[in-house]
Amino acid sequence: MQPVVLITGASRGIGAATARLAAKAGYAVGVNYLRDSAAADAVVADIVAAGGRAVSLKADVSDEAQVVAMFERCDAELGPLSALVNNAGVVSPQGRLEDFDAARLQRVMAINVIGSFLCAREAVRRMSIRHGGQGGAIVNVSSAASRLGSANEYIDYAASKGAIDTMTLGLAVEVAAEGIRVNAVRPGLIETDIHASGGEPGRVARVAPTIPMQRGGTAEEVANAIVWLLSKEASFCTGSLLDVSGGR
Ligand code: NAP
Repeated sequence: MQPVVLITGASRGIGAATARLAAKAGYAVGVNYLRDSAAADAVVADIVAAGGRAVSLKADVSDEAQVVAMFERCDAELGPLSALVNNAGVVSPQGRLEDFDAARLQRVMAINVIGSFLCAREAVRRMSIRHGGQGGAIVNVSSAASRLGSANEYIDYAASKGAIDTMTLGLAVEVAAEGIRVNAVRPGLIETDIHASGGEPGRVARVAPTIPMQRGGTAEEVANAIVWLLSKEASFCTGSLLDVSGGR
């Protein structure tokens, strides 16, 4: 049977690159998005044009009812789930901690942390052999920010990724004997729209000289690591935090 992967935040950036690569690797792909339905439809169209299967799934990962409905639609349209990529994530405008209000903190934690937990819960309920599933794999998209801290930019975002690292370590142990591997990638500076949403579209060019490899990475370079961690080639990897960061 064709394996099925649900990828959150797959309309753009790292998620879209991962969706295209996973389809090439033989997965049917659930392409989750929040606002940009045209971009999500374009990812689905690319996959279908190349002979693959995909469906776009609109849902806010921070909303429990929407997450549950999204997984049910994915089951119905693509079949039993084999893998989850927890990729949807946001930053808020750059600033210092002393200026952060509760609404900002709640948004970044709700999307980056609670969203990833809710999606992981739905995936475990489907994939764990304890629940009658066939096993599977989860890759969480963390960030090098979890170990760098993002001072003067977004410490809240960095802390949300610290929570993702910890969830990866704990969940990996919790479900290891139930056929599910749980790993994370920690991208460094990657060329996507996320930097503009933090208020600095030119961030990659500014920071690149501080990266040992002297450049930002591409979404495809991160997707390669994610799809490898999902694959049987990574069959003895669980609880791993894989840096994809050009040495930074
Ligand atoms: P991006 O280009 O800004 O894309 C974000 C994606 O997430 C979009 O598909 C967006 O959907 C979706 N999204 C946002 N909020 C959502 C929500 N509440 N529910 C569902 N989907 C939502 O981001 P990216 O740079 O590819 O980042 C992807 C992941 O990599 C994030 O977790 C980010 O923290 C992490 N990361 C990125 C970098 C980097 O330098 N780019 C570095 C380290 C880690 P819509 O388009 O429909 O709004």
